[in-house]
Amino acid sequence: LEIYDDLRHSIEHDELVVHYQPIASVADGNIVALEALVRWNHPTRGLLGPMEFIPFAEETDLIFSLGRWVLREACTTMARWRNDVPGAQDAYIAVNLSVHQLSDVSLLDSIAAALADSGLPPEALVLEVTESLLMSETQETIDALGGIHAMGVGLAIDDFGTGESSLARLKRFPVKVLKIDKSFVDGLGILETDEAIVAAIVQLSKALGLVVLAEGVETPAQLERVAALGCDLYQGYLMSRPISADHVDFAKKAETTPQTDPPA
Ligand code: C2E
Ligand code: MG
Ligand code: MG
Repeated sequence: LEIYDDLRHSIEHDELVVHYQPIASVADGNIVALEALVRWNHPTRGLLGPMEFIPFAEETDLIFSLGRWVLREACTTMARWRNDVPGAQDAYIAVNLSVHQLSDVSLLDSIAAALADSGLPPEALVLEVTESLLMSETQETIDALGGIHAMGVGLAIDDFGTGESSLARLKRFPVKVLKIDKSFVDGLGILETDEAIVAAIVQLSKALGLVVLAEGVETPAQLERVAALGCDLYQGYLMSRPISADHVDFAKKAETTPQTDPPA
């Protein structure tokens, strides 16, 4: 009960903050998007990561107000960047959606309101859902995803490869971006199995006409493999951790394929 009141208070009193992690083009290192990642600036416990309160929010109705708040905040920030910052005109914002939000009857209305109030065009918003959520395939989910697509908002599958995807079902959803889970990126250049899995996911994405993104790229060696295997986009600590909005710099080019040492 105490956590509940605490978290509700945080949503109502601006204790939540959104940090942004840049997503770059593998080809030229330009920032093409940012992922909105929520944090809780707790008055006594400091800055808390989402894993410390999102699961609790998901067990209660707080996920709805929290989700609406993040959506609004993220759309407003991206609309401002697109208007004011050189190089940001075509960037999109990625916002995570939880399972429960997809069964919220007012979800489509809150998305429409966030777009209308911020002035962000729908094509500049991509909602990230997990694979298991897509595969649950309840009527509610199908309707919500269809509604999101009809508004012109994009969908991304987060943590791809960790759930139980049916490829046939994948084809039926209007997905735009496929995000390869960090656990496969970790083994690139080291494990043949991970190389094979990432290669297969890239091939699948291309065949389905999807944009393919590698998550959690931490080393130049991983980026080199991500590029060689044909991923379009990447994000990860190598380029940047999630940062506050005022630290986002669209002029900063991320590394592209790293320089390799000349042969001895
Ligand atoms: P996610 O959507 O898969 O987000 C990526 C997570 O990986 C983020 O953790 C990010 O900081 C971390 N990450 C990015 N690059 C690297 C890297 O190179 N190395 C490592 N070790 N980690 C990296 P974060 O911010 O703690 O978020 C965790 C999860 O919490 C997210 O996973 C997402 O599922 C959830 N989440 C975050 N914000 C929201 C939100 O507003 N709503 C909902 N429903 N869920 C959220
Ligand atoms: Mg995500
Ligand atoms: Mg992810």
